[in-house]
Amino acid sequence: MILVLGGTAEGRTLATELVAAGVPVTSSLAGRVAAPRLPPGEVRVGGFGGADGLAEYLAEHRISAVINATHPFAAQITANAATACARTGTPLLVLRRPPWQARDDDKWTTTPDLPAAAAALTDYAAEAVVLLTIGRQGVAAFSAAPQRFWLRSVDPPDGPLPARAEVILDRGPFTVPDERELMRRLTVDVLVTKNSGGPMTVAKLVAARELGLPVIVVDRPPLPPDMQVVDDVRGALSWAGSR
Ligand code: NAP
Repeated sequence: MILVLGGTAEGRTLATELVAAGVPVTSSLAGRVAAPRLPPGEVRVGGFGGADGLAEYLAEHRISAVINATHPFAAQITANAATACARTGTPLLVLRRPPWQARDDDKWTTTPDLPAAAAALTDYAAEAVVLLTIGRQGVAAFSAAPQRFWLRSVDPPDGPLPARAEVILDRGPFTVPDERELMRRLTVDVLVTKNSGGPMTVAKLVAARELGLPVIVVDRPPLPPDMQVVDDVRGALSWAGSR
């Protein structure tokens, strides 16, 4: 039984491919999204109770390998998986899509984390319009910012929110024309995004480039040391096949 820690498109694709190949797979979702897109195979939802709880789960369910296909910013579950797998001797692979890369014609400011991204907004006037696309969590880092915010996320953002904020509930994939139109209509001055990578939400960066808009890009948190990492589903399937 392979445990796929999911919550991403790659996690779903990986589970689909493993099930199609006849490999028993359980996908684990955190339960953050109200109506998640469910992968085939077994699915469990909710936290394990830290690294200890995950280690117990691995032993109890006789998990033969773990593939961590969580989002590049899901640092806590990634650390827990590293600890639990090391403790139980369970092979662990991290499936992490490559980050987006700036082109010469992009106007990116990269920051190490969300508070630094909020600090970078002090370069902008209080009347500037910010399109914040960092997901539901972490918006509190921007709560003291004076600018006018459009917050886009799948589910309503967790507070506290900036004083002047409106919410757009939407889920990718997004297209470049739609993103360009949205940025024009909202008169966006600056886009703030995590460097999630992947094709589902890259259109906002292309649209910002085409409109000449600046983008504040939050870098990914580092992985725990000594992780075995692949950057696509094919690599994860070949790792699973070799076992
Ligand atoms: P996180 O901060 O790394 O995890 C917080 C806690 O949530 C973990 O300690 C764990 O609870 C539980 N958890 C997280 N992922 C889980 C999973 N796949 N299965 C079971 N429990 C899980 O993670 P997060 O940033 O809140 O992300 C939660 C989920 O949303 C992940 O599956 C991730 O792939 C997805 N996601 C995250 C982002 C993002 O920007 N962070 C964006 C899109 C999707 P216990 O300690 O109790 O086990």
